[in-house]
Amino acid sequence: MKSKEELKKNLSDLEYRVTQEKSTERPFTGEYYKFFEKGIYSCLVCGQNLFSSETKYDSGSGWPSFWDQIDPIAIKVNVDSSHGMIREEIVCANCDSHLGHVFDDGPKPTGKRYCVNSCSLLFSNK
Ligand SMILES: [Zn+2]
Repeated sequence: MKSKEELKKNLSDLEYRVTQEKSTERPFTGEYYKFFEKGIYSCLVCGQNLFSSETKYDSGSGWPSFWDQIDPIAIKVNVDSSHGMIREEIVCANCDSHLGHVFDDGPKPTGKRYCVNSCSLLFSNK
């Protein structure tokens, strides 16, 4: 696992703030919001596979949205009570990087909406 200093060196300011300090990128600005190529999205920090393009959809929220994770153990859910709301935070199960939140207003079959910051993900079509 990388130290905070190493991460700071290797990530952009925004990437560091989102993945390590649970910040949120501005909606409609992320690299993967309007991006629908076929491939795999992995954790920017540790490389663990998190989402497949097959479950990606446009939720209109301004952030990349998925209705399922790639593997039932890829992502961990924590209760987040910041900003006066109870939300379910999603983090990489391998390195605890903050990814975004999961909501119950997604499409079938799961009914889930994984709302993810583009800058916490790395896309690959290999
Ligand atoms: Zn990770």
